[in-house]
Amino acid sequence: MRRTIRFLASLLAVLGLTVGLSACGNPSLAAQDVLQADRKSQTMTWGVRADIRLFGLLDTRDNQIKGFEIDLAKAITKQILGPKGRAKFVQVTSATRMPMLENGDVDAIMATVTKTPERAKMVAFSSTYFNAGQSLLVKKGSSIKNIHDLNAQHGTILGVVGANSVEKALAIAPQAKGLQLTDYAQAMTALKSGQGQALTTDNGILYGLSLQNPGYVVTGGTFVAEPYGIAMAKQQQPLKRAVDQALVTLRQDGEYQRLINKWFHNVKGFDYEEAAHQ
Ligand code: GLU
Repeated sequence: MRRTIRFLASLLAVLGLTVGLSACGNPSLAAQDVLQADRKSQTMTWGVRADIRLFGLLDTRDNQIKGFEIDLAKAITKQILGPKGRAKFVQVTSATRMPMLENGDVDAIMATVTKTPERAKMVAFSSTYFNAGQSLLVKKGSSIKNIHDLNAQHGTILGVVGANSVEKALAIAPQAKGLQLTDYAQAMTALKSGQGQALTTDNGILYGLSLQNPGYVVTGGTFVAEPYGIAMAKQQQPLKRAVDQALVTLRQDGEYQRLINKWFHNVKGFDYEEAAHQ
């Protein structure tokens, strides 16, 4: 009898252990310490743009994504993980970036994300790494010179889904209409085919588009401040601290400024020093 009790007790203990293990053996991605996992794998996974010249654009000749944010992500990765650290890039759009971060598909997103109070409720932001400002892109010679012209002419303003730009523009130009496309290539096609009179987003992005499309110019100055931050899951505070520290070091040792010069010093008309200013 005593033997049976002992057997039952040990059976229960094993069962208990199994239940306990299955409860904590597969912790949700959100609960993992991403920094620790990245140190182990020597890899950081970044959500980046592939549709924006100057920030992150896919070069189809060698299948590499290139831009300021790509280089900065690589530099931050090396700061955090050491010289052998590898940055892995996953393409995101304005619409997919937040859900992909929430799903744990990426560790952090550096993808022209403006730090807004609403977004700060959902994610943790790094310190600002680029001070963009919202502006307009129009066809050379257009009668639209600024956001107020668009309002007065009841024009249509183009943007992309997931960005805050069209909403912000309509708040200033309530008589205009908005049309949002999937990405910047499509928004540009819509501008060229006359579906709207202006494309709105951040000045740096628009200067990139004007380089690709010489018949189009950035106009009207900036009308909303768009400070960019690297977004991470709220609970990943060790990662956030490491990223912030890496940004401080890269500014101090001149690497940040070197990357700013590399990508922006040839862009006529763009006050990138202002954007890089802390
Ligand atoms: N920076 C703006 C935003 O975060 C617009 C640019 C974008 O499409 O990312 O909504």
